[in-house]
Amino acid sequence: MMPPMNVTVVLFDIDGTLLDMRGAGRAAFVRALESVFGWRDDIRYINFSGNTDLNVLQRIMEHHGRSLTDEDCRRFFAQFPLELACAAREAELILYPGVRALLESLTLDASVVLGLVTGNIESCARIKLQQFDLHHHFVLGAFGDEHADRNDIARLAMQRVEKSLRPGQKVSAVFLVGDTPFDIAAAKSIGATAIAVATGKFTTAALLAAGADVALADLSDTAGVKALLKRA
Ligand SMILES: [Mg+2]
Repeated sequence: MMPPMNVTVVLFDIDGTLLDMRGAGRAAFVRALESVFGWRDDIRYINFSGNTDLNVLQRIMEHHGRSLTDEDCRRFFAQFPLELACAAREAELILYPGVRALLESLTLDASVVLGLVTGNIESCARIKLQQFDLHHHFVLGAFGDEHADRNDIARLAMQRVEKSLRPGQKVSAVFLVGDTPFDIAAAKSIGATAIAVATGKFTTAALLAAGADVALADLSDTAGVKALLKRA
């Protein structure tokens, strides 16, 4: 069968959009800081919502009066996924309503390319998705150790989409699904339609005020979300 000539790209954020790690990400960050740098820092001054792991690490370094080196990055991001895997086992993780059904349905549609635009480093993104056996749905992505700015992560994901296309294929529409104003800004920066979900820390009203094209309470209406994707 010939691949479809027009593809719809749907890019997903992870935390607050697909699932809730119930503090396991923050706990893993704290433990990795102690393990790698010997710092006991509760990092209460860090807001993870919509943030990127690289930006968080830079902010923590600044807080400790240091600038982040490549060696710091390498050591921290080697330890962090180990701590996350442990912390995930101790937490009662939540998969949001409709997420599995939506991803399964979109995966069956040959004209849809599913990708990730996340502030997580790639290994942590995989660990989080594997908790719910969802990682295989995503054929590509860009991650929070590649850039500190989510707009740059989104741009990198789109470069990977373009590279993945077969000869003659073109992108007819791009959607970015996320739970914070940072996701909405990243969507706008790549010319994508911003679908916002209020499963994270922001209400639908706040997400619309931040410029979301659509704001949903959650992703439970599979047919409704698919209709949005077709309308573009
Ligand atoms: Mg998020």
